[in-house]
Amino acid sequence: MGQRIPEETVEHIRRSVDIVDIIQQYVSLKKQGRNYFGLCPFHGEKTPSFSVSPEKQIYHCFGCGAGGNVFSFLMDIEGITFIEAVKRLAPRANVDLSHVVDEHPTAERKETATMIAAHELLKKFYHHLLMHTNEGEEALNYLLQRGFTRELIEQFEIGYALPSWNAAVTFLANKGFSLPLMEQAGLIVKKSGEDSYFDRFRHRIMFPIHNHQGETVAFSGRALGNEEPKYMNSPETPIFNKRHILYHFHEARLPMRQKQQVILFEGFADVIAAVQAGISHAVATMGTALSEEQARMLRRNASSVIVCYDGDRAGIDAALRASETLVEAGCYVKVAMIPDGLDPDEYVRRYGADRFRHHVLDASLSLTAFKLEYLKRGRHLQNESERLRYIEEAVKEISRLSNAIEADYYLRQLANEFSISMDALREQMMIYGKKQVEQKQERRETVVVPVKAKLLPAFQKAERMLIAHMLRDKAIAFAVQEAIEGAFNVEEHRAIAAYLYAFYEEGHEPDVSSLLERIHDPQLKRIVTELSMIPINEDISSAELRDYIQCVLNYPKEQLLKQKEAQLRDAERQKDYERAKRIASEMIALRKSLHFGRRGING
Ligand SMILES: [Zn+2]
Repeated sequence: MGQRIPEETVEHIRRSVDIVDIIQQYVSLKKQGRNYFGLCPFHGEKTPSFSVSPEKQIYHCFGCGAGGNVFSFLMDIEGITFIEAVKRLAPRANVDLSHVVDEHPTAERKETATMIAAHELLKKFYHHLLMHTNEGEEALNYLLQRGFTRELIEQFEIGYALPSWNAAVTFLANKGFSLPLMEQAGLIVKKSGEDSYFDRFRHRIMFPIHNHQGETVAFSGRALGNEEPKYMNSPETPIFNKRHILYHFHEARLPMRQKQQVILFEGFADVIAAVQAGISHAVATMGTALSEEQARMLRRNASSVIVCYDGDRAGIDAALRASETLVEAGCYVKVAMIPDGLDPDEYVRRYGADRFRHHVLDASLSLTAFKLEYLKRGRHLQNESERLRYIEEAVKEISRLSNAIEADYYLRQLANEFSISMDALREQMMIYGKKQVEQKQERRETVVVPVKAKLLPAFQKAERMLIAHMLRDKAIAFAVQEAIEGAFNVEEHRAIAAYLYAFYEEGHEPDVSSLLERIHDPQLKRIVTELSMIPINEDISSAELRDYIQCVLNYPKEQLLKQKEAQLRDAERQKDYERAKRIASEMIALRKSLHFGRRGING
């Protein structure tokens, strides 16, 4: 049986951590005014509308409406339960909750946790075999000969799988893991038509693959000899989604944030080589093309990406595709090409770390410069017609640039290189450029406080403003309670007001983050975070407050008046003067009460 975590403990933990610190581990934030802004991790965007308030200890996205406190952030971004989120932050508050077991982990969550646990154990087993056994010696020597140091092997937790059909099967069974589940985890394979299993990885050097929290979720096994395939990866499993996971991301996150740059490789061996060369802000895809999700993940952590793929034809094509995806995600992209058709791993081993840093990374080209170079390949530019074709395509490429100064720079280069007049090139660019330039005008990245010009009716605006003030000021909340109690016209606003009155009546001071702990409806949470983040004039005058209250109270009466007006017209049309007279006097009373509403708040 699990336990509940006492409310005071939850509160204590929440108060001990800074939401900015936590969110910053996932999203690059820039301070602007009182709040921090960044790209929302919950929806794709190019301009930041995700805001974090250190004062209120909450976050809110003006784009997709996501919002809440530090616990809800962890729950949403990690897909964990409330208890797990509290447990994860407990050590930061020096609270030990390791004995608390989540009462309601979903069956699915239990299974993935078991799969991860099996990977973690197997990783240690493989690593031990490589480092400390006779069976592992051949593999260890192989690595050492290829320039891997022991330190690097330790750092990447590299291991060795025995040339056995059942070493992993036996190991996992002895540890009590269910073999069908281990098959689902991709660690072992079921014999067809039989109820027995064999090891997926045999006689291979084992590279563990981590998810973005640093948990082991897959392996890549490298053949020791010439066996095919050279690299064998775990299949897609519930814990290993190749389109989401980037190799080394959990380690690279901090350095890439600090540098606001990341080096993207095609293979994990390249990342290891880069780390060996002293480059820690490096990640790699897992044998698939860079996905939009991966591009967005990189963009959230760094503004510029250097794509460093193999120097062969396939590598160049893949680099161009990845670059397009990255540009779409709002990254500034540079391309580093490895000479001689080598891959980065081979290059580092052949020429060393320094040369890789200075001759490859430092020499990386802007995406446009790279494409202009690329367009030249295989063309005989001495030939007049080929030269013209090249210039035409180059101009077309340059016309895609949104920045006029940049476009001018490349045009000038082209003009010099081929002795053509700038006017002629500009003219040509106009033909291609017009449409695209217009489309891309909004690409510039600026941090703007998003003021959503919502076209809301006046009474809704008034209710929103009132709640926004009530969330920040207890006295205003009580004043509103006295004037209108629960007479908000929008149902959600009524519910929020009820929570808020109760919260203040219990003696709490304004604290949105704490209030959010009591509200379970996600829709209400969103509204609360949004309203507490919208900019308001904090010293609201009592006249302003009165106007809002009056607007809220008058709305249902105004609606009623409209109905009466229609009824009155109807009665007059039917020449039912008695009824018309009655309706008219009702309307007078209603109008008076509108007026009363105005004075009523005064006294
Ligand atoms: Zn969002």
